[in-house]
Amino acid sequence: MSVIALDLDRVLFDTNKYLVFLRKKFEETNLNFDDVVSKSADRGRKDLTTMVNIVAEELGKERAENLFFENVETFWKNGLAEIFKPLREKFDKIFVITVGDGYQSRKISGLDLDGIFVVDCDDKKVKVACALHEKYPDLIFIDDKPSVVNAMIAKDIKSLQAMWFLDEEHRKNPLDAHLNKAVEILEI
Ligand SMILES: [Mg+2]
Repeated sequence: MSVIALDLDRVLFDTNKYLVFLRKKFEETNLNFDDVVSKSADRGRKDLTTMVNIVAEELGKERAENLFFENVETFWKNGLAEIFKPLREKFDKIFVITVGDGYQSRKISGLDLDGIFVVDCDDKKVKVACALHEKYPDLIFIDDKPSVVNAMIAKDIKSLQAMWFLDEEHRKNPLDAHLNKAVEILEI
């Protein structure tokens, strides 16, 4: 059975562009993005739940969620989500394994996935992938982070680095096992 597990940020979702967009939206709403980020850090986590909660204290929950998630599907463009239909045809099962919180799935709502695993650190991501690998020996795992890809390879999981949403700095030293364009996944 052909099975693929995907990271979310910078694989399915253009996180860098999203952050630029959020910053602009915050400005338009007279909120300071950096303040919200640093307040989140003070509360222990710079995750979406904490950030949305902080903004909700000013705007209410509905407006806060709209601020973060309205038109969020724009940030699928040029990533794996854009070729989801052929991807769905190629693989019997598609899973997402992502570090973050419950709001992560809002970024990709509408995609027909077989499961989304939200964990709180990269180590747990590797553990989830290992469990999937045991069940599905042909598992392929895609992530943008070299350390995660290498950890998967060390566990004998076929793993490739996604380059398409990385900034210039992070594109400098790709792993041997990398894909430049999302569409290349259809050829492996
Ligand atoms: Mg990522």
